[in-house]
Amino acid sequence: MSQDARKPAERPAPPAESDRRRRSHAHVLSFDVEEYFHAEAAAGCVRRQDWSQLPPRLRAPVERILAMLAEHRASATFFILGWVGRREPELVRAIAREGHEIACHGMDHGMIDRLGPARFGRDIRDCRSLLEDVSGGRVRGYRAPTFSLTHRTAWAIDVLAAADFEYDSSIFPIRHDRYGVPDAPPDPHVAVGPGGGRVLELPPLTVRAAGMNWPVGGGGYFRLLPGWVTRAAIVAAERRGRRAMVYLHPWELDPGQPVLDMPRAALWRHRVGLATTAAKLRRLLRRFRFASAAECLDAIRSRAGPAYRYGRDAGDDRGRASFRVKSYRPGVRK
Ligand SMILES: [Zn+2]
Repeated sequence: MSQDARKPAERPAPPAESDRRRRSHAHVLSFDVEEYFHAEAAAGCVRRQDWSQLPPRLRAPVERILAMLAEHRASATFFILGWVGRREPELVRAIAREGHEIACHGMDHGMIDRLGPARFGRDIRDCRSLLEDVSGGRVRGYRAPTFSLTHRTAWAIDVLAAADFEYDSSIFPIRHDRYGVPDAPPDPHVAVGPGGGRVLELPPLTVRAAGMNWPVGGGGYFRLLPGWVTRAAIVAAERRGRRAMVYLHPWELDPGQPVLDMPRAALWRHRVGLATTAAKLRRLLRRFRFASAAECLDAIRSRAGPAYRYGRDAGDDRGRASFRVKSYRPGVRK
């Protein structure tokens, strides 16, 4: 763990802060803390009951991220899976001790549409209690596994509001084979569920091109595209007076992770750019100021766009991935 346990604000300024970084307001940096085998792409080849048999890999990339954030005097939101919080409570405490925000990513990475309202309500409350018990701090925000909050699952907004979550970051304003609400506002706004529940929504960063929103704020596109694309999108958000929401997973900084027996296309999407993600993150940290969602929440709320009602066009949701693989090999793919 990092030697410097002081909060980011108490650390000395990094030596080479650029003019732009000094001028910019803080954007939100977030990490979905889960193992490489929790990714939805692995769901077809790794069974839930086999998770505990796979080699855990989370600690090293999380420690690397914490060191990078400390070095650049940045803080972030860590959306932590309950399964991880239960197995690695010390890792959760280490993240919290560094001054970062602990937030909820659900207990077992179940996509919202598979849970249904009652199980979803239990899932987010259980995950929040577990993380609050472990970290000793309050959990205010939620991110759905695989951004599975869509028009079809918009009832989840009502459930989140009823459970007093202050913000959500689960609605991706893009067209995608597994998730996304292409017509959703790309900037922070108040999401309204079909039952009238309201939650502040912080959508991941996108850029508008060729009449569509492209997801450049994290995940596979972030790993695939040159770093300047994401940097340009953050600058564009800044010009709109908005704060970008950038997201990554610790496993995206771990090129040595076991190769799961996924279909070829899914495997490519899961592994593309793993070796260069850390360098790209470092460049972002050098160029922009980043903070947790909790630290930016008042400022974001004061500039949030108009309320947007979800659940109207359920037919627009794209279907889930169509592949299914029945077996897996935890070893290296031949
Ligand atoms: Zn996840």
